[in-house]
Amino acid sequence: MLWTASFCLLLASWSVLGAPANKQKQKVLLVSFDGFRWDYDRNVDTPNLDKMAKDGVKALYVTPPYLTITSPTHFTLLTGRYIENHGVIHNMWFNTTTTEKKPYYQTQFVNEWWDNGTLPIWITAQRQGLKAGSLHFPGTASSYQGQVAMVREVEPLLYNYKNETAWQENTDKVMGWFRDQDLDFVSMYFGEPDGTGHRYGPDSPEIREMVKQVDRTVGYIRHSAEQHGLSDRLNIIITSDHGMTSVYRDGLVEEITLSKIPGFSFTDLSFHLVDYGPSGMLLPKPGQLEKVYNALKGAHPHLHVYKKEDMPERLHFTKNDRILPIILWADPGYVINGYFPVQFHKGEHGFDNEEMDMKAFFRAVGPAFHKNLEVGPFETVNIYPLMCHILGIKPEVNDGHLSVTEHMLATSTRGEFTAD
Ligand SMILES: [Zn+2]
Repeated sequence: MLWTASFCLLLASWSVLGAPANKQKQKVLLVSFDGFRWDYDRNVDTPNLDKMAKDGVKALYVTPPYLTITSPTHFTLLTGRYIENHGVIHNMWFNTTTTEKKPYYQTQFVNEWWDNGTLPIWITAQRQGLKAGSLHFPGTASSYQGQVAMVREVEPLLYNYKNETAWQENTDKVMGWFRDQDLDFVSMYFGEPDGTGHRYGPDSPEIREMVKQVDRTVGYIRHSAEQHGLSDRLNIIITSDHGMTSVYRDGLVEEITLSKIPGFSFTDLSFHLVDYGPSGMLLPKPGQLEKVYNALKGAHPHLHVYKKEDMPERLHFTKNDRILPIILWADPGYVINGYFPVQFHKGEHGFDNEEMDMKAFFRAVGPAFHKNLEVGPFETVNIYPLMCHILGIKPEVNDGHLSVTEHMLATSTRGEFTAD
């Protein structure tokens, strides 16, 4: 329904408004710091993030789509679509027939996992005459309908995502792309503070140190933009894919271990995806769906069990063939174990996106944005139409609405491609 409605509106506004006004082209840098929870700046001195809010826009928080894990939520940033609509439903590619699974990094190179009908903003921008690039952003390695971001860099398999010197080098590299190759849009990804949040937990001294490193890097990004002479054209949006919450350790609570649940047996399944934080998906063998469902439903007070078609609509995690018939998720603090506990992270994400600990941060600064403006929360699907608007390109069909974010824009930049 939404699809049809927004598509018609988009066509209507396109024909009414016509071509963009002829003015200096604005550029956009989209930066993601993986797992930067909305309130990580609360107990840490973050002068650069504070300065950015003063010079631009800060949202109280942003809500990622469900499932709140890296590749799916990043693809939402690039497409403005909920996960059920863009189809990158998990960090892991899997095949239910062969039961083969590929981890996060290997899945980056499985083209058909990413290229399944929805175009990321790089391709749309390039098709409309702009130049786009991407550094380390999930989805960069794949091609889309035969096209790739014209300048791109994919990190090697064994990459140290924490190295601050590399962060600065990558920043200068991206600014060089903007200046020397005149790119209009670049997406850039940093793998922290996610790794530190998993390892030490979101309330640890280690996370506070990493938040300071992020803050210094935010200052470095802005400084580098200035050094490259980009300040009057470059808009910098800094956000994240999800938050982080503490995991209750064994002994404190009754853990969720599926094999211990009476009446449940892995032999009733032809495929399962569990032991991946608080979420899971099951494909029962033919005729076993009710048995599996009934065994699991209500088996643990902090385990939610849904048939795919009964998933709450607000999660937008139903309408895709890749989503398996039974979906499990745990309350904050819990993870879902299969045969026995194999997960030992102190921090985790992948929970319901209504949980405050899953919310991400958002800052934006540049000529398109108001200064010193704090706005209320919004869903990250709305970042895509905002970026398209600033770039002056016609967005693809998407689930976001420019009306949700356009109050962040300085009046002079409004008025093009209001697809909403
Ligand atoms: Zn993570």
